[in-house]
Amino acid sequence: MWTFALARLAGILIAGLCLGLLLGPIWLWLLAAACLYLAWQLANLYRLDRWLRLRSQIDPPNLGGIWGDVIGQVVRLHRRKQFHKQRLVQLYRELRRSTAALPDGVIILSTQSEIVWFNRQAARLLGLKRPVDVGLRVDNLIRSPEFVHYLHGDDFAMPLIIRPPVQAELYLALQLVPYGAGQSLLLVRDVTRQMRLEAMRKDFVANASHELRTPLTVISGYLDTLADDPSIDDAWAGPIRDMRAQAQRMNAIIADLLELSRLESTDGEAPREPIDVPSMLRRMHRDALASADRPRQIILDLESDDGLFGSMQELESAFTNLLVNGIKYTLSEGTVRMRWWTDPEGAYFSVVDNGIGIPAEHIPRLTERFYRVDAGRSRERGGSGLGLAIVKHALQRHGGWLDVQSTEGKGSTFTCHFPQQRIWQMPVRTAASA
Ligand code: ADP
Repeated sequence: MWTFALARLAGILIAGLCLGLLLGPIWLWLLAAACLYLAWQLANLYRLDRWLRLRSQIDPPNLGGIWGDVIGQVVRLHRRKQFHKQRLVQLYRELRRSTAALPDGVIILSTQSEIVWFNRQAARLLGLKRPVDVGLRVDNLIRSPEFVHYLHGDDFAMPLIIRPPVQAELYLALQLVPYGAGQSLLLVRDVTRQMRLEAMRKDFVANASHELRTPLTVISGYLDTLADDPSIDDAWAGPIRDMRAQAQRMNAIIADLLELSRLESTDGEAPREPIDVPSMLRRMHRDALASADRPRQIILDLESDDGLFGSMQELESAFTNLLVNGIKYTLSEGTVRMRWWTDPEGAYFSVVDNGIGIPAEHIPRLTERFYRVDAGRSRERGGSGLGLAIVKHALQRHGGWLDVQSTEGKGSTFTCHFPQQRIWQMPVRTAASA
């Protein structure tokens, strides 16, 4: 094409030169030939420019040579762009259709937590309306304090369960999924059915335990009377002793089940009664020393005079469970050490023993209900398998958590962590010690 274009230019100039030679001044005929060529090129450029501007309305100009080639390339580029655009639009439509059909609600949030887009299900569950709610901050629409706290926090591993503002009979699980540069997806799932089933399960356990309690008290009472009755044949002494032990075990399981149901059914945080933890631990220490079947050494290290704001009953139950476990799973020549201390981050209670320890693979599951490392050994020592589940719940209600470190055959350390806001600095005791 380019050779042809150059040949055409050369042809015009030669024609101008010939005419100049024949008809006089050469430069004038050469200039005229060059101007003619330039005018023709400008005319082509004008047609190309007009077509590019009005591409959607007029057909491409029919220009030959180099101009035809340029127009052909523009047409090809345009077609390719159209093709990609169509594919993108199709993909976008499919994406929107599939997210709209999701059984879960999806809300796209901007970096400022403003609603960018939401699907039909999110609109239904949260009562969102298009277009009025687009652009609004999501915490202005869902105003529950837990959600605002969750949205501005940085732990989105677990969903948050809320009652929505519009349909208060529902339970919704909200989970934030951050992506890109500060944007996030808010997933909304209706968990009403699961929550109802869970509530039914809890009620059932609580009611069953409650109903079993009365007949068991009667049986235990008769067994106690029989055990103390001198007229009973000696051959029955052994079976009656066993029956009494089993009845006591059942009583312990029922008491733990009721305690767990109570903890589970009380929503939210534990109350904030001021509790003198050092005194409570001294009392527990005295009782432990008085128990018959215990390791040789039970030590109490009180490194802080501070107490806690919380529920006396729940904390005592949690600490006692840990101490009783320490005693239960440590041989008679071992040591169990209770420790209470605080630092600028919080308060801590730990029970350290050098007992049988726990194999590493069992540690993550210890706080599950009825989970036992060695069911036989636990039963033999009067364990219900519910103790650590109670500890976990009680600590959660105090904003705390349980840490378990253990080496099989060497011993275990169970540490309760409490946040700084739960520490109660006891005024009288601080003044006296100063
Ligand atoms: P249990 O009533 O059986 O002791 P828990 O919930 O209190 O139930 O504890 C669960 C399991 O964790 C126990 O069965 C036991 O296997 C293990 N465990 C708890 N504390 C200790 C400890 N201090 N040393 C060794 N094993 C322990």
